[in-house]
Amino acid sequence: MTGSLIWQESHEEFQRFDRVAIYVEKGRLIFRDQRKLGGLWLANDDEGIREIIGEQGPDALGLTGRDLTERLGLRRGALKSTLMDQSVLAGLGNMLSDEVLWQARIHPERRFGDLDLKERHQLDLCLQRVLRASIKLGAIPRRATWLSSQRSESEAFCPRCQRRLSTGHIGGRTSYWCPSCQAKS
Ligand SMILES: [Zn+2]
Repeated sequence: MTGSLIWQESHEEFQRFDRVAIYVEKGRLIFRDQRKLGGLWLANDDEGIREIIGEQGPDALGLTGRDLTERLGLRRGALKSTLMDQSVLAGLGNMLSDEVLWQARIHPERRFGDLDLKERHQLDLCLQRVLRASIKLGAIPRRATWLSSQRSESEAFCPRCQRRLSTGHIGGRTSYWCPSCQAKS
């Protein structure tokens, strides 16, 4: 999820990327995002949320070791698609998944079942590290040493080995990876 929620007690002028304003007695809540929304749904309770977004897997934050292995072992497809599948793990989107896999040096199209123990451990560590740093900041940190710093560049290079990054569609989303650091097999 991108964007931010902003509380305003006085009605300032709308900014360019303000998408939604919800008015209540003492002010309004603005949802601001450069990306456009697919839609907006209202739910009264947890049951209503489930009806709208479907069954969610456990929160990826804090899910480590055997619990993580059990969840990721549920799917046989490309690991990146599995990481983004909210019914497997909740909380990882396109950019976070790319960052985690790049930091763990795992090609996004590999299958979880084919990873060795060392790679699974790396995935576990990087998943928690990337999530914690991103939650703290409210966005993926654009550190020069992270993959995310390269995403908006016209020519994207690996911050680790300086090779040109590969891009392609995985799980229906634009993906970035390093052909050198993230070997396919
Ligand atoms: Zn690299």
